[in-house]
Amino acid sequence: MATESLAELVRFAPDVYGVRWVNHVALFIVTDAGVILVDANGQLNPRTPALIKEAIRSVTPQPVKYFVYSHSAFDHSTGGAVFADTARYVGHKNTVERIRAANDPTTPVPDLVFDQKTTLELGGRRVDLYPADLSSTDDYIVVHDATGRVAMFVDLMQPRNVPFRTLLGHPERIVERLQWLEDKLDFDVIVSGHATPQMSGTKHDVAEQRGYYRDLSDAIATARAAGVADSSPEMTTRVGAILHPKYGAWRRFDEFLALNIRGMIAWRAGQTPSAH
Ligand SMILES: [Zn+2]
Repeated sequence: MATESLAELVRFAPDVYGVRWVNHVALFIVTDAGVILVDANGQLNPRTPALIKEAIRSVTPQPVKYFVYSHSAFDHSTGGAVFADTARYVGHKNTVERIRAANDPTTPVPDLVFDQKTTLELGGRRVDLYPADLSSTDDYIVVHDATGRVAMFVDLMQPRNVPFRTLLGHPERIVERLQWLEDKLDFDVIVSGHATPQMSGTKHDVAEQRGYYRDLSDAIATARAAGVADSSPEMTTRVGAILHPKYGAWRRFDEFLALNIRGMIAWRAGQTPSAH
């Protein structure tokens, strides 16, 4: 059987690292006054947070001072309590009730809460946190370390992956946010919180991801113009035929295409589609 890599520690830029367990990636930034960590990824494997803690110890004696939630979904958010001896917990305002309701002692409710751009300052380093604002209930954030020229936008910016299921927010707001990443945010590396098929991307990948939403929208319009019913199997076939040459090799194209179509139509109709 082929050798499979289950875990790794990578460096995205000086003092900016990633820890991967299978397909989940946590990011940490080392300063002279402590470490800023994003996510603990402890749902699939409850030992992952301890692995991350030890990986941090392998490159610095500094403690984690800020534990940042990229969003509330439990595959990424679970397990930050292993840093409770030194860390404060930071998250979007909309993460608070979801994390509190889960009542999981391994996953502390954030005590530094924001819904506007906020900046963590540690050891002379400034790390900016921007709400993604993809819908009124959205709790995703964009993390930006200007010093290392690294950004992190979990789930929404996975290179060569089609968007998750019925889209993670309003498609127009996602496109605006991706355009903003391209135009307004200085970075060389963008980290997605996932690793398949790659752990990080560039502005080129952001432009490609944004292009997918535009091309999906155009293909839906083309199918409608041909008289095809919204979200029907025939629409999936028509849209799939249009998108396949460009996106057929992207991860989960066949699995998620019908859901992407249904999601785009539902969000635009003012509905919040179920994720499943
Ligand atoms: Zn994810």
